[in-house]
Amino acid sequence: PYDEETTEDYIFKIVLTGDSAVGKSNLLSRYARDEFHASSKTTIGVEFQTQSVIIDGKRIKAQIWDTAGQERFKAVTSAYYRGAVGALVVYDISRRQSFDDIGRWLEELRVHSDMSVVAMLVGNKCDLEHLREVSQEEGRSLAESEGMYFMETSALDSTNVHKAFQTVVTEIYNVVS
Ligand code: GDP
Ligand code: MG
Repeated sequence: PYDEETTEDYIFKIVLTGDSAVGKSNLLSRYARDEFHASSKTTIGVEFQTQSVIIDGKRIKAQIWDTAGQERFKAVTSAYYRGAVGALVVYDISRRQSFDDIGRWLEELRVHSDMSVVAMLVGNKCDLEHLREVSQEEGRSLAESEGMYFMETSALDSTNVHKAFQTVVTEIYNVVS
């Protein structure tokens, strides 16, 4: 959509989805500001945060959208997904229900966004190994069957957080460039 004559910048809209309390907001605050919040607080006022990424010498703006807690009411609107080229679909490895709900989130993503959206399944809270209810193999195999990338992350200790976002941005870039 961008005229290469006038700009080399790309803006990639990436959305975070998944059940409430899986750690979406903390993944974003860890990535964008290197912050972690032990108590859950709903996003107020801010719809998205941007991160600048350079790939192949091109300046890319990753515009990452976080829900304002509306996922609790199962009412994430189509406006949230509109124009998204990437998605992190997140569950909590210590809460089986959040993994069982992934199918519903994928369905919603597919209804509202383009076929070519780059999607990554993210098993967050991998620091909670002693409370694990979903094995890494289950996560990986679901991702494989859905044609998604897969990573386990921890917003608490930073494991794979940067790598997860970076992978999605890079793969989007590979699709559009
Ligand atoms: P959201 O509703 O999906 O945005 O989830 P939040 O980011 O608000 O996180 C919900 C709760 O889980 C908060 O108490 C966080 O501190 C906690 N949390 C988020 N990520 C992690 C993680 O990677 N490890 C652990 N142990 N707790 C986390
Ligand atoms: Mg949140």
